[in-house]
Amino acid sequence: MKAEILSKAQEIKEEVVEWRRHLHMYPELSGREFNTAEFVAEKLKEFGVDRLVENFADSTAVVAEITGEKPGKTVAIRADMDALPTEEKTGKPYASRIKGVMHSCGHDAHTAMLLGTARLLCQMRDKIHGKVRLIFQPCEERHDCKGAKHLIENGVLEGVSAIFALHVFPELPTGKVGTKPGPFLASSDVFRVKVIGKSTHASRPHQGIDPILISAQVVNTLHHIVSRYVDPLDPAVLTIGKICGGFAENVIPDEVTLEGTIRTLNSEVRDRIPKLIEKALWGITTAYGGAFKFEFEEGTPPLINDEVTTRFSVGKMRELLGDENVILLEKPTMGGEDFSFYLQEVPGTFIRLGIRNEEKGIIYPLHNSKFDVDEDALPIGVAVETFLALEWLKSHS
Ligand code: MN
Repeated sequence: MKAEILSKAQEIKEEVVEWRRHLHMYPELSGREFNTAEFVAEKLKEFGVDRLVENFADSTAVVAEITGEKPGKTVAIRADMDALPTEEKTGKPYASRIKGVMHSCGHDAHTAMLLGTARLLCQMRDKIHGKVRLIFQPCEERHDCKGAKHLIENGVLEGVSAIFALHVFPELPTGKVGTKPGPFLASSDVFRVKVIGKSTHASRPHQGIDPILISAQVVNTLHHIVSRYVDPLDPAVLTIGKICGGFAENVIPDEVTLEGTIRTLNSEVRDRIPKLIEKALWGITTAYGGAFKFEFEEGTPPLINDEVTTRFSVGKMRELLGDENVILLEKPTMGGEDFSFYLQEVPGTFIRLGIRNEEKGIIYPLHNSKFDVDEDALPIGVAVETFLALEWLKSHS
């Protein structure tokens, strides 16, 4: 069966590339994937999926199901569809036609590959033990719109026994895939601080409360939270990426605002850090006679690959692509992904698909304005998704 899947995936390569280029030329931001969703739904109708839900849970999500001829469980595969507010600078003929919007995280490739998988599975119903649910998800890049969490709350995982997803990865060359069991990506939360002082003339600081000086202490102290309160063997990052305050060199302002991100690989550490920030803010602002406001915006949890589905995926991908092409990655990274929400509910595996090609100049990182995908990787992704879905269902029927 693996040879059949690999050759079928190659046969539809041109089409998958065409879909990917179309999606690449017309990228849409998170929560506004209207044309993308319509394009996806049109294709799925054309292939003849058994069930199709457009605007799932009042969002731009498209959810489809392909039912096999044999009884069995339900497995899900997820692709994200949204683009980023980036001005594309690849100069490629299929570069974004939408000013300031670009598929710089490869979600165009994810969507096109899952369409390819749908296409193959519709031709292979005799080999499906159960059902394959395809989740075309909006809003991966933002936490304030209807992404993974919203779809799960509305039942997208009902009856699902395992879930898989691919993400293009420019650090791996085309032909290779990689994953790891356990912690794989970090939680990603945002915090905002307002340091409140009292404005006055710069020459008479004793008559006011200086929020700039207090903020300097805040920046310094918050950077000690990870170094002094978190076990050095538990990875964590706290970065303050934005600070705003003041109007002129001779005015002490009323307030300063700071914004930062917290990344962790473990939920216990994740829960502790915001409490430590608040404690530090209270201590520092009280000492200076100022005040503060603290806002914490919960983002995505750490992405933890299930041990069983991940060992299974690695074994099956080795069978499909050859041992040398499947890499058991050693380290997690501190990036975030909302696929982690699915993995809190059902076992599953997030897999990285190599798309780097130095000869073609495809070397740029995700979210870069010159990012591109080596399209030779697309049929590999289609074959991996198709094979994993069929094999998981077969071995659990
Ligand atoms: Mn992404």
